[in-house]
Amino acid sequence: MIRPIIRFGAEVLHKPASPVADVTPEIETLIDDMIQTMYAAPGIGLAAPQVGVPLRIFVCDVSVGRNAADLLTFINPDFVERDGMQLEEEGCLSVPGFNATVARPSRAIVKGLNRAGQEHVVEGTGLLARCFQHEMDHLEGTVFVDRLRGLQKDLIVRRIKKLSRAGKW
Ligand SMILES: [Zn+2]
Repeated sequence: MIRPIIRFGAEVLHKPASPVADVTPEIETLIDDMIQTMYAAPGIGLAAPQVGVPLRIFVCDVSVGRNAADLLTFINPDFVERDGMQLEEEGCLSVPGFNATVARPSRAIVKGLNRAGQEHVVEGTGLLARCFQHEMDHLEGTVFVDRLRGLQKDLIVRRIKKLSRAGKW
């Protein structure tokens, strides 16, 4: 089932998510829905808070469905390692219509449980490393806009407020 994607400004996107206690059938359904919602958008990653569920789960697929092996699910993820630096333009399904250049490490290793509840460790470089950090940020209540500084951040926040007031957000 495709779930509605929550937008920047909603409380659930701006506070840390809670660990998953058990991979229950409800959690499996949530993950399946998140994958469907990510592909439908389409996007390369989606975190549970983005569908209004404050739990530490994210899914990603940098191939957007073209390569089955690229679909990854992480439950209760942690960083094992991060290094390097990359500067690329980034967007977010919860902030549609806005992009900005964000500095991120160029390599990241994440460990967590997969959809079957087994631990896996995955190394990402380039786009996958960026995706890992973007989704891990969501689990801490951080949206990419929060990583911007000064005028660039103010401009996006002001535009979103204006859209909200007009009922278009
Ligand atoms: Zn996002």
